[in-house]
Amino acid sequence: MLKIHAIRTGFVEVRRPQMEARRKGLAKITDMLFDEQWSGWLPIYVWLVEHEEGLILVDTGETARVHERGYHPSWHPFYRRASRFSVHPEEEIGPQLRALGIAPRDVRQVVLTHLHTDHSGGLAHLTASKCWVSRREWKRAQGLGGRLQGYLPHRWPKWWQPSWIRFDARPLGPWAQSMPITRSGDICIVPTPGHTPHHISVVATGSVSFFLAGDTSYNQRTLVERKVDGVSPSEDVARATMDKILLFAKQRPLIYLPSHDPDSAERLRLPAPLVIEGHGERPESVLRTVAVAAHSD
Ligand SMILES: [Zn+2]
Repeated sequence: MLKIHAIRTGFVEVRRPQMEARRKGLAKITDMLFDEQWSGWLPIYVWLVEHEEGLILVDTGETARVHERGYHPSWHPFYRRASRFSVHPEEEIGPQLRALGIAPRDVRQVVLTHLHTDHSGGLAHLTASKCWVSRREWKRAQGLGGRLQGYLPHRWPKWWQPSWIRFDARPLGPWAQSMPITRSGDICIVPTPGHTPHHISVVATGSVSFFLAGDTSYNQRTLVERKVDGVSPSEDVARATMDKILLFAKQRPLIYLPSHDPDSAERLRLPAPLVIEGHGERPESVLRTVAVAAHSD
């Protein structure tokens, strides 16, 4: 029996066009920096999977150090103008694991969907875990180039040694490649490029499957409506990933859990799969969400 915990490591707020781009090119960037409408406080979720082979953590959330002066580069427009954070020290992943009766060093595996600060900010607590990362995402985050793109590689713990994700020709739903991280093969990493070019997601398969989505979209509605966020460098790549997730949800009951969707924890609790009707129709015309009775494996 699989158990997944939603752990909220504080909140982030962005401008609306970051969640859902309205224009292209430079206008898309200026919208993210200057639009007057904010998203409201969005959760920063981390997913703890209790698996019989050991504990797996998907993302590490944010750190309360965001409130220290200079923690974020003050020269960077994204941190100056486009984001606000609220994280209390007791909301960091370490104290929250301990509150669940779990020592952070007992987490066997950590998977990072990507390396943005609100997903890698809790790494310092996970000193004993094997940590799966896309090597190309890691490379993209390095140096000045990485910092210009909003990554904070200089904040990662010095001792941190990522393990590289390697995809094999193991099809999973619409994905030609995947990487299982359990011997039983029920927890898999799949490539979900879009929000970042080497973004990955984690799938827990079963009678109902769970899609631990990172930032493939900011919420379920924007997935269903195939609205690409303002961060994704290529709209086409991001939309192709969304279409794969939507197709996967057609093939099996799927609980879609993006990191910043205020409704993710409730969908996990019910659980409420994404229901897609009418095979062959355009995804945006055929989707609705329903609540179903809790299942047991
Ligand atoms: Zn992100």
